[in-house]
Amino acid sequence: MSLFAIVVLVLILARLLTELWLSLLNQSHVRARANKVPPVFSGTIDEKTYRRSVDYTLAKSRFGDIVNVFDALILIGVLFSGVLPWAFGKFSGSFDSSILAMAGFLFVTGITLTILGLPFAWHAQFKLEDRFGFNTTTTKTWILDRIKGFLLALLLGYPLLVLVLKLIEWTGANWWLWAAVIVIAFQLILLLVAPAIIMPLFNKFTPLPEGPLRERLFALARRIDFPTRSIEVMDGSKRSRHSNAFFTGFGRFRRIVLFDTLVAQLTNAELESVLAHEIGHYKKRHVLKLLSISIAGVVIGFAAIAWLARQQWFYRAFGFEHQMGFAAAHVVPAILLFTLLAGTITFWASPFIHTWSRRFEYEADAFARATLREEKSLIQALRKLSERNLSNLTPHPLYSAFYYSHPTLLERERALRAPA
Ligand SMILES: [Zn+2]
Repeated sequence: MSLFAIVVLVLILARLLTELWLSLLNQSHVRARANKVPPVFSGTIDEKTYRRSVDYTLAKSRFGDIVNVFDALILIGVLFSGVLPWAFGKFSGSFDSSILAMAGFLFVTGITLTILGLPFAWHAQFKLEDRFGFNTTTTKTWILDRIKGFLLALLLGYPLLVLVLKLIEWTGANWWLWAAVIVIAFQLILLLVAPAIIMPLFNKFTPLPEGPLRERLFALARRIDFPTRSIEVMDGSKRSRHSNAFFTGFGRFRRIVLFDTLVAQLTNAELESVLAHEIGHYKKRHVLKLLSISIAGVVIGFAAIAWLARQQWFYRAFGFEHQMGFAAAHVVPAILLFTLLAGTITFWASPFIHTWSRRFEYEADAFARATLREEKSLIQALRKLSERNLSNLTPHPLYSAFYYSHPTLLERERALRAPA
């Protein structure tokens, strides 16, 4: 094993140990408060529901621990067993080192790793979520979802891979910049067309029906100068009883989507406050900011791949032959290894990214409060959502700081009640 291989192994194990440590910390924090509703939440949630939220949190954490261990073992196995250079050799040998074969190698490896994770996805949906009454997915829907996902990857992902590999041969040393531009353009187009073309493959979207709710929500959108074409209801209940709302597309194509489960759970005033929060994300330019981060990520990622593709020690550490040059076959191992290893590095960035994301949530909450000139409806909505989704009310502070994209219920209530 080379020194670099040992460093990678240590990093993978360090991540796993951190994940397990945070999870155990959180579990014992929750368990210590399991017997009685903490005083700050009395009046927010009843004893029985609180108990269930504790059980749900613990069950999800324990399952998450198993998945994390499995993922780390698979990653170590894949990286250090020599299976990748072997498969790469088979692909180059049988199909030449043509672009189509090289893209095929990356595609097949990706699909194989996805298939290995399927039993866990199945268990999460049909055992874990089902046990707490959230699952509404039928076996047929679940299987169809996987098939559709695979076909989309084949029709969109594979041609994109081929194009990126072609760029290596067409543009030489600057290939990574061209590849980044193409991938970003592809992402932007996807963002534009997904609401119209891809999302309807999985869900039904219907305009919010005529009536007081629709009038109220459109009046709000007009009042705060958010010209929206449509507010749509998505049949989220097809898969789960969890409720949500989100914001999709940009420019003229933006639209607001409410889950049918959300519409069923909240009053009109509460839904108005949720909409105000969602529009707050737009008004505060959060969508644009997140998009620029993702664009920067793509550029940095390709620059890193191009640099790694020139490092002999990087290839050798995982059993690949190293050759200089701008043939796709010379760069493909770097693309694969980078993709496999990226999570090991970005994991450590997640607390910073989540801190940023939580700041956005506070801003959107503050926007909703300023718009509606009251905070009661939003607090009521957040409490209800947290109760219906059996959210963990008492995460360990370190755990939520690391993983939570949204502040906890208590943090949000405090911020909403604080003087502006
Ligand atoms: Zn939000």
